[in-house]
Amino acid sequence: MARVTVFTLGGTISARGGDAARMTGTEVLAGLGLTPEGVEVELRDFRRVPSSSLSFEDLAALAEEVRATVAAGSGAVVVQGTDTLEETAFLLDLLCTTEEPIVVTGAMRRPDLPGADGPANLAAALAVAADPGCRGLGVLVVLADEIHAARFAHKAHTTSVATFTSPGAGPLGAVVEGEPRILLRPAVPTRLCPLTLDPSVRVALLTLSLGDRGELLDAVADRYDGLVVAAFGAGHVPAGLVEPLAALATRIPVVLASRTGAGATLSHTYRGPGSEYDLLHHGLVPAGPLAPAKARLLLHALLSSGAKGPAGYDRPRISAAFAHLDGAGLA
Ligand code: ASP
Repeated sequence: MARVTVFTLGGTISARGGDAARMTGTEVLAGLGLTPEGVEVELRDFRRVPSSSLSFEDLAALAEEVRATVAAGSGAVVVQGTDTLEETAFLLDLLCTTEEPIVVTGAMRRPDLPGADGPANLAAALAVAADPGCRGLGVLVVLADEIHAARFAHKAHTTSVATFTSPGAGPLGAVVEGEPRILLRPAVPTRLCPLTLDPSVRVALLTLSLGDRGELLDAVADRYDGLVVAAFGAGHVPAGLVEPLAALATRIPVVLASRTGAGATLSHTYRGPGSEYDLLHHGLVPAGPLAPAKARLLLHALLSSGAKGPAGYDRPRISAAFAHLDGAGLA
């Protein structure tokens, strides 16, 4: 008998009418009907909030409980709103390095609507969490019968039940006739050893847009411990922003990500003012293929785990953690 602990956090899957978090964990599980055969389910009614209201305190506490659960030999399924699901999943991937399957799922259609997808997603997530063949894949996102790696998973549509995609990579597999089928495995684990999460660390995410003059950068300097810039294209900013970003990078880590939604930042294809080459030579750290919101979480967890000290920040360690996920040197 496989053991799986289900943590319910709220979201549409537990909605009553328009309120995205009213049902108890027991009611959410009851939507399944029968528990899948061969799976012993334990419930942790963890939070009841829309996922937009989850805090770093909630997620640090969740990671601790999930770690303890999997250390005791149980798989874990986290059930929450889809709005921030990719961030929770990636954070768990950074904080809980384990062979045991950890799966995050939710729903796009409320339980009271025709075609509600919560029960099917929950059943598929339980099947994945209970399957020994899904061990060692890192944290997984399971919705619409697709199995995605947390580091790639992205909510790409406001209403579609197949909203999750894995830009630049594709799903690792699917759930077919109730059984997980894994077709691909990530080349490296997201982390070799777990990071910690200090909720008091502050990392800003700044998405640039046409005509940006960098006024918001002034707000970052004294308030944040790190910054992720979601830049244009493969990592480009208006020329006038290079100097303020370089000045910031002498004090706090500044990570260069792309706002495009897929593909890696470049390093030396463009070399003029505001190019990726220019920025990296002014101390910015490339996010590689990591989406801006996930780059922010990796930087947050690194800063929580000793990458910042009284003498400044540990740039080589931060660069190495991002480079670990860029796929280079694995061919
Ligand atoms: N607003 C909901 C949430 O993220 C959406 C969902 O669950 O899909 O909590």
